[in-house]
Amino acid sequence: MIMATISLIEENIPCWYELSYNNMGLDDNGILKLRIHEEFIAKKGNIPPNDPIVTDFIETFKFKTFEGDFSKQDLGFSKLLKNTRQFGFYELEAKLPLVVVEEEKDCPYCDGTGQDKNLERKCLFCWGSGKPHVYQWQDVIAISASLSVLFRFIFWAENFMSSLVKKQLLTVQTVTRFDSQGHGGSMSGVFSPVFASFLRTDLFRKPAEVRAKATMINAWSKMNNPNKFFDDFDFRVNLQGGRLIMDCPGDACGIHPEVWDELAPDRGYKFSCHNVDNAIQQLTLLAGLAALHDMARTKGI
Ligand SMILES: [Zn+2]
Ligand SMILES: [Zn+2]
Repeated sequence: MIMATISLIEENIPCWYELSYNNMGLDDNGILKLRIHEEFIAKKGNIPPNDPIVTDFIETFKFKTFEGDFSKQDLGFSKLLKNTRQFGFYELEAKLPLVVVEEEKDCPYCDGTGQDKNLERKCLFCWGSGKPHVYQWQDVIAISASLSVLFRFIFWAENFMSSLVKKQLLTVQTVTRFDSQGHGGSMSGVFSPVFASFLRTDLFRKPAEVRAKATMINAWSKMNNPNKFFDDFDFRVNLQGGRLIMDCPGDACGIHPEVWDELAPDRGYKFSCHNVDNAIQQLTLLAGLAALHDMARTKGI
């Protein structure tokens, strides 16, 4: 059977890649993991450095390096993905980088005290840290771009079917762009029938919502300053009827089912996004998806 002719929406296909975060929720290392089965790489080979998507990214973002050879220990742009081989998978680890970095000087608004001068509250400009911040986007964009290349590369391979018993739970496609109109981190994908069925299981609904939300807050805080203020309701996960709606801070930023109709039983569905403007939001949402993926695997799915 040729994978290209099979729709992951309609069929449960043997697993060829997976997502995971914080070591399936057991650690707090801020590592987003993409696990690709070695049979897939054996079939498809390495990512050619002259692939147009790779050269486009290098031109756009001025990355100095790209490594697409799966025998190497550090892959991707700027070699920020650590590659190890475990249990038949290539495990690519992206440690979510701190983007909002403290400067070594006093915050000009509170003179470094961290307290608002007039009101009984923390300084709103430095979130009480007493130091001003700068955004350093380079690493998070290199990670996002590396994943965009990888997700496209592993989307399918001709005449390939993995020998695993466990099923593919989801596929993801992402973009990485500078875009003043927003949508610089758009993402979409497919949830397989077995994963959609997990998402609509009543028993799992509440714990899945709680876990995905806590995971997004964890990932978001790794990339922002840990002191940075956020509103709890800016993070939202809703699984009514198995329809995953997940939001993170931004301009109504999140993912949702592509169509608003009720879900058909025994089928998966497509998801798309709204206003995922940057790489922090994209990786936050990916961590939320990874948490649901981890939870499904923990439940034997
Ligand atoms: Zn301040
Ligand atoms: Zn939009």
